Amino acid sequence: MILLLTLLAIWSLAYFKAKLPVWTAVFAVLLALAMFTGSPESPFWRLIWLIFLAAAVVLNVAAIRRHLISKPLLSIFRKMLPPISRTEREALEAGTVWWDGELFSGNPDWGKLLSRPEPRLTAEEEAFIAGPVEELCRMLDDWRIAEEFRDLPPEVWRFIREKGFFGLIIPEEYGGLGFSALAHSDVIMKIAGRSYAAAVTVMVPNSLGPAELLLRYGTEAQKDYYLPRLARGEEIPCFALTAPEAGSDAASIPDTGVVCRGTYAGEETIGILLNWDKRYITLGPVATVIGLAFRLFDPEHLLGDRDAPGITLALVPVGTPGITIGTRHDPLGIPFQNGPNWGRDVFIPIDCVIGGAAGVGQGWRMLMEGLAAGRSISLPALSTGGAKLVARAVGAYARIRRQFRLPIGRFEGIEESLARIAGSAYLMDAARTVTCGAVDTGERPSVISAIVKYHCTERMRGVVNDGMDVMGGYAISMGPRNLIGRLYQAAPIGVTVEGANILTRSMIIFGQGVIRCHPFILKELQAVADDDPMRGLTEFDRLLCDHVGYTVANAARSLFHGVTGGRLIKAPSGPAQRYFQAATRLSTAFALAADVTLLTLGGTLKRREKLSGRLADILGHLYLISAILKRFEDRDWPVSELPLVKWGCEDSLLKIQESFTGLLRNLPFRPAAWFLRLCIFPLGRPFSGPGDSLGHRVADILLEPSSVRDQLTAGIFLPEEPDEPLGRLEDALVKVIAAEPVEQKLRDAIRDGRIRAGTEVDTLEAGLNAGIISSDEAERMQLALEARREAIRVDDFPALGRKTT
Ligand SMILES: Cc1cc2nc3c(=O)[nH]c(=O)nc-3n(C[C@H](O)[C@H](O)[C@H](O)COP(=O)(O)OP(=O)(O)OC[C@H]3O[C@@H](n4cnc5c(N)ncnc54)[C@H](O)[C@@H]3O)c2cc1C
Repeated sequence: MILLLTLLAIWSLAYFKAKLPVWTAVFAVLLALAMFTGSPESPFWRLIWLIFLAAAVVLNVAAIRRHLISKPLLSIFRKMLPPISRTEREALEAGTVWWDGELFSGNPDWGKLLSRPEPRLTAEEEAFIAGPVEELCRMLDDWRIAEEFRDLPPEVWRFIREKGFFGLIIPEEYGGLGFSALAHSDVIMKIAGRSYAAAVTVMVPNSLGPAELLLRYGTEAQKDYYLPRLARGEEIPCFALTAPEAGSDAASIPDTGVVCRGTYAGEETIGILLNWDKRYITLGPVATVIGLAFRLFDPEHLLGDRDAPGITLALVPVGTPGITIGTRHDPLGIPFQNGPNWGRDVFIPIDCVIGGAAGVGQGWRMLMEGLAAGRSISLPALSTGGAKLVARAVGAYARIRRQFRLPIGRFEGIEESLARIAGSAYLMDAARTVTCGAVDTGERPSVISAIVKYHCTERMRGVVNDGMDVMGGYAISMGPRNLIGRLYQAAPIGVTVEGANILTRSMIIFGQGVIRCHPFILKELQAVADDDPMRGLTEFDRLLCDHVGYTVANAARSLFHGVTGGRLIKAPSGPAQRYFQAATRLSTAFALAADVTLLTLGGTLKRREKLSGRLADILGHLYLISAILKRFEDRDWPVSELPLVKWGCEDSLLKIQESFTGLLRNLPFRPAAWFLRLCIFPLGRPFSGPGDSLGHRVADILLEPSSVRDQLTAGIFLPEEPDEPLGRLEDALVKVIAAEPVEQKLRDAIRDGRIRAGTEVDTLEAGLNAGIISSDEAERMQLALEARREAIRVDDFPALGRKTT
């Protein structure tokens, strides 16, 4: 009885985060109860009380606790923590903590997310998308761009410059369009569904690059000179960071700048002598100005007292003597401009440094802060545009392509792929829009930007793979009719750039997240590093008490939610309530697992990338669920979208569970794993992923025209002309569905023996002659047969190697 009471008391105190004196008082009462139910005069009890009192004094008297517990722990921490380099610190300090902080708290406040305004376009932004973007899409012939021009045609380049596509993010006062992150994302998404090469071309000047950097860090003179020129497309920018020996490890750039005196434009001045060798630079081959990242040295101390001020960014006009613009790389046959460039003893004045003299040595911070916002927008937009196109095209194809007189989309095997395509497209769009909404309200969510970039580019790769499988030979045969083959080629590009995905998943998301978003870790690190030892110790002691309370509370809450299946968690009511509850439950489990993993592995977790990757997946999927729920609530719970909401949430819940399973199986300190298993899955693993009938309903959305199909693929370019590949598929889809009742009549007639089975054309004629179908119906069926045959045709070429039309 006493044991049960004790366990209940421990659990309640932990759950309600009771303060130390309350714990002490409750334990005193429990001890007294235990003593009086036994033999109170036994010396055993004197010993127990002595131990209890000693522990109570040590824990409750701050000065003693600090001296006996916090101080030794502080010195262990100091020795254990790996030194944080300047670039690591700048990466950690970049951007803001947003919803990721709530997910790390273990008890996300859904009201904070749901009360944010729904991201929306302004009338001007809508008009731009319906006008110039639509027109640009109409001009783009991706097949000819890839096979004939190996570039965008001159009239497209001209149109992009003249209509301000390179100045989407530049404010109107500098002649740009001053668009929101959502509008920027919508523009890229629409173009991406039409031509990946064109989308990348528009994306890069608006992404991490000179315009973004100047806006945030440029001097007034730099902004006044460059921004109007960039907005008008008179300058084509590129951003050159990557070098042959510095890719993912960009912080180890070998390219140098040495501060010295020299002559620039005929004048003697203090400047920088640059030497660099860059590769993979998008727009590099056509750029007029290079945003260059290099490591700066100042051996003569002409700028200050530092020998090596560090990574610095400068704008270098390509006409500066000593620069060579190389030829072109060929990124998987997607012909956007990309190539190497290098400079030998290129002298530039200090004014070329972004931010002038104040920007010297600030390059890494600028890059990390730029990435925190930029990564949230461009690649998610590019990937979502691709996924929406696949969803629309593959769904139509799966309905019109028949086998055994059935649309292939009705076979369960195909249905599985279709459900993944539709579910992923929905989820990606939710993540894209919700994240853009956050950026538009001032957030620069560095960890979330890495999550969205990683998941959208990976999903796009999965979606296009599924699409290839469903379309079979149609998707494999390249030609103007092939809608998704080029996307299949392009998928690894998004995966590799702006933080290659393996690194992003296994090091960045959880590695940065745990320090930035955890309620205590960063503050504890700051206390450990405090120059004033007494102040550091006092702060560390306070944080330690709160941190222990937080972890213990998460353990108690996780166990409780595990036992009750999360049913008692307070969550927004409505059809998605169970998903809110499940996400809260798993957020609590995540917060607990993060702490226990850190506690048992310490600084070595940095090298345990497989464990860190699993924790990153849990956090990432929690964010995806949040985005889906936010979007569903914003739209007032449209019933038609419910299957997509359920599919996305259940898919992510299962993936979270799998990541937990992998984590628990591989945690090296086994008692920690057993403890976590008990707290997180006390009654076993509850999530089983989207069921077959849900998958059927989701796949069905792609198989016929409907408002939910339109909503799912909203924002991509939909050509109306039936001689366009997508237009042809759409046209056939409508006609094939219209003819299905006629086909049914003919099938019934064959079954009843009124007409004989034959080819579709023979059957049609027989049905007409026998009066089973009317001439109108025969015409409808004839149109469907023709449209289908035309839509599933693939290209062939007289001589391979000259594949132009
Ligand atoms: C088409 C294209 C366009 C580009 N455009 C530009 C541009 O405009 N400007 C620019 O500066 N750069 C650009 N890049 C460069 C791009 O950012 C780099 O390719 C990227 O940083 C990866 O570098 P890398 O290719 O050298 O691969 P590596 O750095 O060699 O990485 C190879 C693999 O190792 C993984 N990896 C590396 N370190 C770790 C680790 N510690 N733990 C786990 N995995 C790790 C990576 O995730 C990756 O999967 C572009 C690249 C491409 C392909």
